[in-house]
Amino acid sequence: MALLDRFGRVHDYLRVSVTDRCDLRCAYCMPEEGIDWRDSTELLTFEEIERVVSIFVQQGVRKVRLTGGEPLIRPELPTLVAMLRKLPGLETIAITTNATHLARDASSLKRAGLDKITVSLDTLHPARFAAITHRDRFAEVWRGIEAAIAEGFLPLKLNVVLMARVNDDEVLDFVRLSCERPIIVRFIEFMPFKENGWSTTKLISYRDLLQQISREFTLQPVESSSRSDVAKEYTVNGGLGRIGFITSMTEDFCSTCNRMRLTADGAIKSCLHDGAEFSIRDLMRSGATQVEIENVIRRSLAGKQERHAGIDELYQIENRTMIQIGG
Ligand code: SAM
Ligand code: SF4
Repeated sequence: MALLDRFGRVHDYLRVSVTDRCDLRCAYCMPEEGIDWRDSTELLTFEEIERVVSIFVQQGVRKVRLTGGEPLIRPELPTLVAMLRKLPGLETIAITTNATHLARDASSLKRAGLDKITVSLDTLHPARFAAITHRDRFAEVWRGIEAAIAEGFLPLKLNVVLMARVNDDEVLDFVRLSCERPIIVRFIEFMPFKENGWSTTKLISYRDLLQQISREFTLQPVESSSRSDVAKEYTVNGGLGRIGFITSMTEDFCSTCNRMRLTADGAIKSCLHDGAEFSIRDLMRSGATQVEIENVIRRSLAGKQERHAGIDELYQIENRTMIQIGG
């Protein structure tokens, strides 16, 4: 039975956070004063994650993305990838990473059966990288990107959160990068979360960005292969890669949303921007049956709203921070 919500949306994509910890400190993701890290015993084990994912797959999920926090700081992550790879019916396993450990892990992730990698990188300047992330690790990240390309994770997706007066002067450099390398650069609109310094004055809308880029480059829209793709993509001057825009703030994609989320501590969320969550960890640890777990998943989906709150309300809603939910 498909995971269908009240608005006819089929959910076939699960984002799984494997840790709430991170080795970077991007201010837009993690509050400056830090968060209360979960103790490792509070996190789902690999076996528990595999069990939940396999139940989701039996309900029609075809794609899983591992995220966090930083997924590659969870020890032995390739082992989890290999476990999930064995699930019949699961077609795609992807990961979103800050790439600090990707040079170390790219080949073992490939061997374990990982299909796709998205790297997050908001600047091409090492000093600015240190300012945004509060860690001086640009060189490791760049090595990670090269390692992923060398392993054949192509095209590699690169997420860039654009913020006015922080990194918006690098837009054209990122576009050039997408021409020269097999990289899809995806500009993401800055989203508000608890204490993440968001304000409308920092938001750069995709329409303004598109105009700016079109003045310098020839853009050709790329037909989306799936209705639920969140990025609007373009080829640039016939270059190697592409660019894309993730317009969560100015043109939401709620009407075609196909995603559910599992937090590292075992809560199910049906929307990134809704505080509602349903924990299954303790239920599982007290011997829940498959049907009981399925019922919790369906309860979460039954509460999914037609669309998330508007820009003016989002930053006020009671929700965990991005790093705790899993982006
Ligand atoms: N640590 C990994 C990484 O950075 O790729 C995975 C977790 S991170 C929370 C996932 C994605 O969320 C990243 O691409 C990050 O840029 C994005 N993100 C975090 N906070 C955001 C915000 N306030 N607005 C837009 N995107 C955000
Ligand atoms: Fe860490 Fe990713 Fe959040 Fe940056 S965006 S603090 S790398 S989880």
